[in-house]
Amino acid sequence: MRDDSPNSWEARADAHSFYGFTDLPSINERGAVVLTHGQGPYVFDVHGQQYLDANSGLWNMVAGFDHPGLAEAAKAQYDRFPGYHAFFGRMSDQTVMLSEKLIEVSPFPRGKVFYTNSGSEANDTMVKMLWFLGGAEGHANRRKIITRKNGYHGVTAVAASMTGKPYNEVFGLPLDGFLHLTCPHYWREGRDGESEAEFTARLARELEDMITREGADTIAGFFAEPVLGAGGVIPPPEGYFQAIQTVLRKHAIPLISDEVICGFGRTGAVWGAETYDFIPDAIISSKNLTAGYFPMGAVILGPELTDRLQTASDAIEEFPHGFTASGHPVGCAVALKAIDVILNEGLMENVRALTPKFEAGLNWLLENPNIGEARGKGLMGAVEAVRDKATKTPFEGHLSVSERIANTCTDHGLICRPLGQAVVLCPAFIMTEPQMDEMFNKLDAALKTVFKEVA
Ligand SMILES: *Cc1c(COP(=O)(O)O)cnc(C)c1O
Repeated sequence: MRDDSPNSWEARADAHSFYGFTDLPSINERGAVVLTHGQGPYVFDVHGQQYLDANSGLWNMVAGFDHPGLAEAAKAQYDRFPGYHAFFGRMSDQTVMLSEKLIEVSPFPRGKVFYTNSGSEANDTMVKMLWFLGGAEGHANRRKIITRKNGYHGVTAVAASMTGKPYNEVFGLPLDGFLHLTCPHYWREGRDGESEAEFTARLARELEDMITREGADTIAGFFAEPVLGAGGVIPPPEGYFQAIQTVLRKHAIPLISDEVICGFGRTGAVWGAETYDFIPDAIISSKNLTAGYFPMGAVILGPELTDRLQTASDAIEEFPHGFTASGHPVGCAVALKAIDVILNEGLMENVRALTPKFEAGLNWLLENPNIGEARGKGLMGAVEAVRDKATKTPFEGHLSVSERIANTCTDHGLICRPLGQAVVLCPAFIMTEPQMDEMFNKLDAALKTVFKEVA
């Protein structure tokens, strides 16, 4: 709870740090949680309070907060070569090796990688690549980008325009030419009597209609998360990517899989695209790419986009884009280690082994009369609070139900994230069964407390 003495960590946090994506009424009442360190899936605050972090940081600290191999890989690379860029034909040996590894583990028989510092920048980079191709290939109008409502692609001006969230209106976004389709959420968007397969077919028709209306030759690409993450953990309806990809292929529109959350194990396979059995034209990666131990993003291009981008770049003798820290040697060394840890140290196996227990836990929470839906894939899940389960009527917005649930959890040593009226769970891949019991028991107790308060 908030310590209001002038030199408290809470007061000092307020004084000089601007909060992003934070419920300010909660902060005013409770103060920031200032953390000092972590252990396994737990974090500790300045008062010594321990929290089980059910969100593994922001989806990304999948190897826990004290993985010795990752810290050592960073330290060794800092000692050897602590920083360099990837401009002017120079790059570190770690960068070369990471690109080889990413193509090796990608669904592509060959391809190339471009590095950024974040997922947002990777999406921006991909959009610039598509715009560049439009111009170079004589289709200068091919600039529109299609995404879905509730899709999350980041916060830079372009990535925020791709993101289908109403809060971006406060910035006067989206920019022109960013189009949003219906959120593929069957429980919320499916019509009375409509089967899941019919819902999918309707979404595919909506895409087809949008392409016809806008003109296929004005559309540069379609971006989608395999499972919407920050939109509330929404797995696609049955057959979704097959239906969408058929439409996109007909019009030669690239399908970009934003795997910033799904990539590297979250859904139980290396890629969400693998889980849902489609091969995209390019992949956006970040978050788990370094298990959260270094800020880094990557655009992984499949063979066709690689060749086209190469041809377009050859024509003007360069691809004029890059960040100062693109392909940072420490980031690349950490990513190489993180991929090894996730794929070869049993983390992904643990995701698969824990998934049935995770699903059982979500279904157990669904027995609660005010939980309308429990959904998820692999180790990402959400439960959605409702006033009335039969009619799916949400709680009144002013009650801030999901914030209350998250705050009550925090009071009991569990960190989980409110999202709309849902609460998100995306634990670390190293989680044990007892820790998972702790997570569900604490969340269940918080749900019961809050639902009594707002009844
Ligand atoms: C987090 C996220 C991003 C943005 O990544 P940042 O590193 O925060 O810029 C993009 N796409 C998806 C799917 C994400 O979850």
